[in-house]
Amino acid sequence: MTDADGVGDRGSRWIVDLDGVVWLAGEAIGDPGAAVAALRDRAVDVLFVTNNSAPTRDQLVRRLGQVGVDARASDLVTSAHAAAGLLQPGDRVMMLGEKGLREALDERGVTVSPPGTARVDAVVVGWTHVFDFDVLATAAEAVRAGARLIGTNEDPVHPTPKGLEPGTGALLAAVAAAGRTSPVVAGKPHPPMVDLVRARLAPGGAAPVLVVGDQPATDGRLAERLGAPFALVDSGVTSPDTDVVGVAVALRAATFGALVAGLPSAR
Ligand SMILES: [Mg+2]
Repeated sequence: MTDADGVGDRGSRWIVDLDGVVWLAGEAIGDPGAAVAALRDRAVDVLFVTNNSAPTRDQLVRRLGQVGVDARASDLVTSAHAAAGLLQPGDRVMMLGEKGLREALDERGVTVSPPGTARVDAVVVGWTHVFDFDVLATAAEAVRAGARLIGTNEDPVHPTPKGLEPGTGALLAAVAAAGRTSPVVAGKPHPPMVDLVRARLAPGGAAPVLVVGDQPATDGRLAERLGAPFALVDSGVTSPDTDVVGVAVALRAATFGALVAGLPSAR
């Protein structure tokens, strides 16, 4: 018996990362649609959990459809939702981020103030390519004036076909340094996302859970904090010869599809 025993059984729950697992910058990795369909044939429930706060849920549903994965908005949790959960309805925030973060803040009833607003309750940093010196200066000033600094996630880089791009963690670190503070981080593997995922899993009771991801430091740690085994796929930030240190890897495969194909027959 391994600690991943039963993870492919009827009623088990899979927490599946997107970037580096299902796709790389929108390009499918293998045939993720077939992998998800094979899991659903086994009555395995699939929840997609991403630290990418930029796309809206509808955009993610469409992108999943484009790579052959049938998903509904309710099958998705992003770090934008975890970050919004740290705020109270009526809070005023400065936002560095894109539509997905805006959607999550709007749903939460948070007021997004224009840059330069004298006082805000929080500065929320998600992934965005709209980031320059003035944005950094304004955000840092708000933080020094007492606003909480919340990051959707702290992934320093994310994989693209052209190599690694700066991630939210890089932008967040700049605001934290100039704001002379430490941020609260919402996404994997931090408590706000752990709690959000745990709440989503609650109706499944004690069913086996597996976390699938390409980043040991985020996906592997999320698994650890959920008390679930971690399946590493070498299609994102790691390659098969990467040594993983400090995070337990219960299963390892080249791709998500290979992981599903390697499951023992359904029970
Ligand atoms: Mg990933």
